[in-house]
Amino acid sequence: RAAIIEREFQHLNEKQREAVFHTEGPLLVLAGAGSGKTTVLINRIINILRFGEGYSYAYAPEDATEDDLLFLREYLRNPTEEHRMRAETLCRVNPARPWQILAITFTNKAAKEIQSRLQRALGEEFAKDIWASTFHSMCVRILRRECDAIGYDRSFTIYDTDDQKRVLTAIIKNNKLDDKVFDVRGVASAIGRAKDNLQTPRIYAIENTEDYYKSTVAEIYKQYAKQLKESNAMDFDDIIMKTVQLLQGNPDILERYQRQFHYVMADEYQDTNHAQYVLTSLLAGGYENICVVGDDDQSIYKFRGATITNILEFEGQYKNATTIRLEQNYRSTQNILSAANELIRNNARRKGKELWTDNGDGAKIRFHRSDTQEGEAEYVARMITEGVADGKHFSDYAILYRNHVLSNSIESAFKRNGVPYRIVSGLRFFDRAEVKDMLAYLWVIANPTDNLRLRRIINVPARKIGNKTVETAAMLAELNNTTMFDIVSHAAEHPELGRATNALTKFAELITNLQKMKEHMPLDEFYEQVMVQTGYLEALKAKETQEAQGRIENTMELKSNIADFMSRQEQPTLEGFLEEVSLFTDIDRMDESSDAVVMMTMHSAKGLEFPQVFLVGMEEGIFPGFRAMEKEEDLEEERRLCYVAVTRAKQQLYLTCAERRMMYGRTQYSKPSQFLKEIPKQFVDSNISETRQEMQEKLDLQPNPKYQSSRAYDISGAHKKQPVIAKKKTAQTVAAPALKPGDQVDHKAFGHGMITSCKPMGGDILLEITFDKVGTKRLMAKSAMNFMT
Ligand code: ATP
Ligand code: MG
Repeated sequence: RAAIIEREFQHLNEKQREAVFHTEGPLLVLAGAGSGKTTVLINRIINILRFGEGYSYAYAPEDATEDDLLFLREYLRNPTEEHRMRAETLCRVNPARPWQILAITFTNKAAKEIQSRLQRALGEEFAKDIWASTFHSMCVRILRRECDAIGYDRSFTIYDTDDQKRVLTAIIKNNKLDDKVFDVRGVASAIGRAKDNLQTPRIYAIENTEDYYKSTVAEIYKQYAKQLKESNAMDFDDIIMKTVQLLQGNPDILERYQRQFHYVMADEYQDTNHAQYVLTSLLAGGYENICVVGDDDQSIYKFRGATITNILEFEGQYKNATTIRLEQNYRSTQNILSAANELIRNNARRKGKELWTDNGDGAKIRFHRSDTQEGEAEYVARMITEGVADGKHFSDYAILYRNHVLSNSIESAFKRNGVPYRIVSGLRFFDRAEVKDMLAYLWVIANPTDNLRLRRIINVPARKIGNKTVETAAMLAELNNTTMFDIVSHAAEHPELGRATNALTKFAELITNLQKMKEHMPLDEFYEQVMVQTGYLEALKAKETQEAQGRIENTMELKSNIADFMSRQEQPTLEGFLEEVSLFTDIDRMDESSDAVVMMTMHSAKGLEFPQVFLVGMEEGIFPGFRAMEKEEDLEEERRLCYVAVTRAKQQLYLTCAERRMMYGRTQYSKPSQFLKEIPKQFVDSNISETRQEMQEKLDLQPNPKYQSSRAYDISGAHKKQPVIAKKKTAQTVAAPALKPGDQVDHKAFGHGMITSCKPMGGDILLEITFDKVGTKRLMAKSAMNFMT
């Protein structure tokens, strides 16, 4: 095809280019992991926007001559009215502006990645107007502008899970319900699912009259929604549902957005829930230039209401839809892909596809089973340190696990061995009490009707405003149909508040003064004023403890967040900052530039890739979890998660498990995960043969020089039953005491160094070693010995 633009996308394969050039009408890109779906999405935007300074795109017809193409290239650089006719007879020339493009993804990290790649390709100034964001931030953006239409004030507050639970707990208590039956987490998740399905309290109640539990939840939901509305607040699920309600209830607003978004795109579409599906369809309803990309085998958010039918029924929803499949994988080696293919083949409910690559077979997958979780953790640390000694970077490695609890033992092994690591919690970062306190102040300043946050800080630091006073104020607010802040501001008019009147009035003045101050001060300076004026900083300082010092540092850390926010925004406002914070997850803090191993759940690894990947805790009962093993449908979801995890690896995949594991305070014995059995042996190198006996023999037949001294010790008769672990332990206890400050050491990963201190600690010795290249590290001697040469 003679298309000038096609030359610009030479790096893509033919199918990918087809998707990039298919800009008009509904398009579904259905393809397996690592086949370039996200890459296509980004290039598609570049194609739509880049051509010429007039930002047009063009697609020359097949019979265009060289001369035509030359002309067109020139025209696209400089689209003059005079040449417009000729250009238009040659091909479609259709200017699109950046704000007409909406690209939605699931995580902040993915959204940032798309933004930065677009900025590199199109220029920062231009690309920043593209709506590339998560569902949540897109909705917040729309709601901030339009929420008057649904009776909210633009300064509305966003409640996180913690805030949400606090409100719900109070409701459950006030209604004298049994909090074991109506466990707050269960209730919160039922309400969350209702919102995912766009069920308002009224609809939810109508649809659940039969069931005692659900009809009670309906009542709680009703009260909860009322309270949030009164506080001018929304929770995470509201953000999506309210946007849908806004658009459905206001045709004029809907039309405005439909006109605006000429091109709508959604990545990871397999994980959309009903509300997100409706939202995407509404926004794309104007031009129907909707492109969704996804993989039915990677649908892993059923528990959050995601429904795979959204992607499977796309072709039914849009009769003129085009579907493009990509099967070549560019991420992983063939061994990793074959393992993934074989694994997912065990799922009955799927469309079915095979991935292939021309990256070559690569190394075999390495499987390692240890006696204990500590053994597993040491293995992981050892593999990484050896890899780093071999020239790899710590940041090449990712540790993925089914649950966060599994990270503990690995973390300790990393600490002992001086392996730098970063945990991506997926939870909100700002969950430290002091940070939440400062944020609550900021929220109240921005939105004084926020009763919940007002309660949090009204007496922090102590201002002689007791619980009883707060409850009285809350009651008065209820009675007078107003906000607590309103009552507090007019405390003198309410004799019920008694002696606290003075303290309350002073508090209200404090907030009002800060509100005024905010208007003429840079945000970071203002924040410092809040710390000082509220007395919060002083109260911490007065404590003079180590812990309080840490808290001061955390509150200061928030200031660096504000400064960072200011450097990125043209008009940084307090509301803007708070909004960003509430949508913030730890994954944003993953600083790619620093060299550290990344640890996260398999769920948060979606869409990401790493050269070296460990899947730890691959045990029956953990992954798949016991609950998932009961129902085939749930087991299939777990298997899809395993498929997602396996396909994150580019070069090397490690699968590890332990025979014994301490979990939730109990020792559990477990078998290797059934998923491991589903991966054919030919792709795997394993440390266990059929029996333990053979394993022992295998180990004895291939002595590792590293353990020479321990073998000698072992022969003397101690610890015969657990060869691997015991050998290592004895080696360490023999060797460790010999170390003293001043000793020169050579560490496999950190190179040459000198011991500066040795402190006995919990049956081991804490070494402080100053390395020539990497500076001072603190290592536990027993583990460190493994890496000394
Ligand atoms: P996932 O399903 O995990 O989200 P994906 O389908 O979105 O994966 P991408 O992340 O877009 O896949 O691409 C995977 C890797 O392959 C990336 O490193 C990308 O740069 C690379 N890649 C994609 N297409 C090509 C290509 N045509 N040539 C070379 N590399 C490519
Ligand atoms: Mg992707």
